[in-house]
Amino acid sequence: MLSSILVPKRLQARIVAVYLGLLVVIQAASYWFIEDSVDRNARASIRTELNTGEKVFIRLLQQNTYNLEQATRVLAADYGFRDAVASGDRETVLSALSNHGGRINASIAIYTDEQFEPVASTERAAGPFVGAVQRYARQSLSGGMQANQVEVINGQPYQIVAVPVKAPQVIGWVGMGFPIGDKLLKDMHSLSGLDVVMLLRSPRGDWAVSQSSLTKERWNPVIKAWQTPDGGASGDGVNLTLTIAGDEFSGHQLVLPGAPGQPPVTALLLRSVDQALAPYGQLKLTLLLLTALGVAAFGVGGYITARRITTPIRMLAGSARRLERGDYGAEVRVPSQDEIGDLAQSFETMRQAIQAREGEIRRLAYQDALTDLPNREQFRHDLRQAIERHHDDGQPCAVLLLDMDRFKHVNDVLGHRFGDRVLRAVAERLRGHALAAPDILARLSGDEFAVLLPATDAAAAKEVAARVQASFEKPITLDDHTVDLGAGIGIALCPDHGLEADALLSRAEVAMYAAKQQQAGTVVYHPGLDSSSEESLTLLSELRYAVDHEQMRLYLQPKINLSTGTVIGAEALVRWEHPERGLVPPMKFIPFAEQTGFVRVLTAWMIGQSARMCAQLTAEGFDLKLSVNLSTRDLMDQELPAKLERVLNQHGVNPGSLVLEITESAIMDDPQRAMQTLERLHAMGIKLSIDDFGTGYSSLAYLKRLPVDELKIDKSFVMSMESDLQDAKIVRSTVDLAHNLGLTVVAEGVENAKSWKLLAGLSCDEAQGYFIARPMPASQFIHWVKHWVPPDTTHEWLSTEFAAMI
Ligand code: C2E
Ligand code: CA
Ligand code: CA
Repeated sequence: MLSSILVPKRLQARIVAVYLGLLVVIQAASYWFIEDSVDRNARASIRTELNTGEKVFIRLLQQNTYNLEQATRVLAADYGFRDAVASGDRETVLSALSNHGGRINASIAIYTDEQFEPVASTERAAGPFVGAVQRYARQSLSGGMQANQVEVINGQPYQIVAVPVKAPQVIGWVGMGFPIGDKLLKDMHSLSGLDVVMLLRSPRGDWAVSQSSLTKERWNPVIKAWQTPDGGASGDGVNLTLTIAGDEFSGHQLVLPGAPGQPPVTALLLRSVDQALAPYGQLKLTLLLLTALGVAAFGVGGYITARRITTPIRMLAGSARRLERGDYGAEVRVPSQDEIGDLAQSFETMRQAIQAREGEIRRLAYQDALTDLPNREQFRHDLRQAIERHHDDGQPCAVLLLDMDRFKHVNDVLGHRFGDRVLRAVAERLRGHALAAPDILARLSGDEFAVLLPATDAAAAKEVAARVQASFEKPITLDDHTVDLGAGIGIALCPDHGLEADALLSRAEVAMYAAKQQQAGTVVYHPGLDSSSEESLTLLSELRYAVDHEQMRLYLQPKINLSTGTVIGAEALVRWEHPERGLVPPMKFIPFAEQTGFVRVLTAWMIGQSARMCAQLTAEGFDLKLSVNLSTRDLMDQELPAKLERVLNQHGVNPGSLVLEITESAIMDDPQRAMQTLERLHAMGIKLSIDDFGTGYSSLAYLKRLPVDELKIDKSFVMSMESDLQDAKIVRSTVDLAHNLGLTVVAEGVENAKSWKLLAGLSCDEAQGYFIARPMPASQFIHWVKHWVPPDTTHEWLSTEFAAMI
């Protein structure tokens, strides 16, 4: 989650970083480029300035020389002067030299004869000047004169001019000397913007500044820099770079021609690089400011753009993650019109397609196509969720499993298509009449339905089961067929019977089978039902032990002929004489034995015992029939007829002395197979009786096709028939019906004389019940028969409605 949020964040940061990085690189490159070219240009223009400065300086010097020469020429041509020279008037010559020289700022003025012998001089020690004047004169005569010549005299650079005095031949020379001073250098500075330093070298080689446009305090640093230049002499020894008191200067050295043998004067032209660059400094500052502004603007712009790009991507990524988790419900929507918007649209289309397909798959996988109810998978899923809820809130829940009675028969007789319609009708009826909204009804298979009851305990679950049973009471009518259905219901409870969906389902199933077997309608699971539970394993081994160690007892309950009052036989009923628990009634272990299949062992034991009893009765001279109960499992046993035949032969018993009691539901579980067995038994001469008639499937038409001889009206109708008119009517019509079908009718559960009298009046053939005798140990039976006296019911009084029935 965190990393996925960070990814677009990183993308956003990356976009901003790339934007800014590019900008900074470009700005830095252009800054460097501009600075570099500014620097180069500045230096190049400095060099040009210096070169021009050299020319200007030379020109200035030449100009100066020319001006001086012109001024000197005026003196030399002056008549009075020449006259004074000619006349040798030394005084006048000197005064003229002095006056004239003073006017043109010469510091020295001298007159020599043509041999350069000094005649008059404004300075006393004129020796060095004479040499210079002589050199100048010779040069001007030979035409090789250099007007920028600078002579060093007494440690001062001077410009010297010499003009001949002609009469008309050269009779002498006027020489003037001008020190190179501040004025020239200032002129130079104002003309060229350059500073000039006049450097002199002593014969010992030391350098010294004689004059400069720079202030005096910079002279020493200049000397120092001059002696150790930074470089930039560029090979010509003319251009150089100097650092003077921390400031960078470009220098140009100009060696001025001077007296031979004398160290020449060097003029150093200087230009401050820093000053030259100063105007560009502002430009650079502006550039830096623009860069900073650009970075800020790009940063903000990049952030906004990045956000605009990454926000939809982030939304898209969120949607993609939801899809990844399998959550196809949330719409993919990105408010973007660009490519990302298109992508989101594709995502959305894909999501819808997947959602639709998933829905279809879910429908196919989790829904029963026939009834549109949830199927087993979905039910298990829902059950698991209910169990989870129980973990959370502690609320119990219940599973109802119901399997319809006789549905197989409906399918066989009326066809599968009809069966399908019946199932749909059942689903509708359960939903509509028996269940509430939060209850989940599912069809697990064939005719097996399950109901999940959330927040329901055992008592409430039983109520729902009762409603379900009640909803089956009304037959289902489709087309012209009326189908009478019932159901066995098993209930398992969470948490009492398990905390796992499959365990709960299988326990509900166990309870449901028990309900069907016991015809009990609804059974709530208990471990005793479970053939695999520890308790039942013990019970099973105990039963085995009981059969092998003669704890089973044969009890007999007499059957009487109602018209004659004579004993005609007895029903064989099993008892378990448990060493600790005493006499265990059959209802305590027969259902379990039926469920586990052990009932076959019991039946075999009962048949053996009954056959022996028959033989004994015959031997004692009684012609009595014994009725033995069969369960479904017995009826499904293909070997049963053969086994019976063996036992009967073994004891030499006539098959006609044996009656087998079979319940309707035992037959209806698998009517075809039951029919086969019944037919074979009937063919052997064994009598067959329908037990508990009236409680189960009452298809009389079907009964007609069964090879049965006798019908036992269930004791639930008989026990209270003398007081319940409804029951009496049922008994009467059952008797009529049985007689119409040619069957003998037995009423079981005759508990009093009134019932006896009523049954006799209704022409019921036989009776069995506590009124006659309770089931008794077989050993007491013969004694009982011998002492049997039919009751006299002539004085029993029946109320009018009942009496009218007879
Ligand atoms: P059933 O076959 O319907 O047997 C009749 C039951 O009704 C017997 O209960 C009997 O004691 C009882 N009964 C007889 N007369 C009266 C009466 O006047 N009033 C009342 N209230 N009850 C009466 P029992 O012996 O407890 O047997 C219960 C059931 O156990 C039997 O019902 C039968 O389905 C089964 N059963 C008993 N013995 C065997 C057996 O050997 N094999 C098989 N497969 N089932 C057996
Ligand atoms: Ca019976
Ligand atoms: Ca019965």
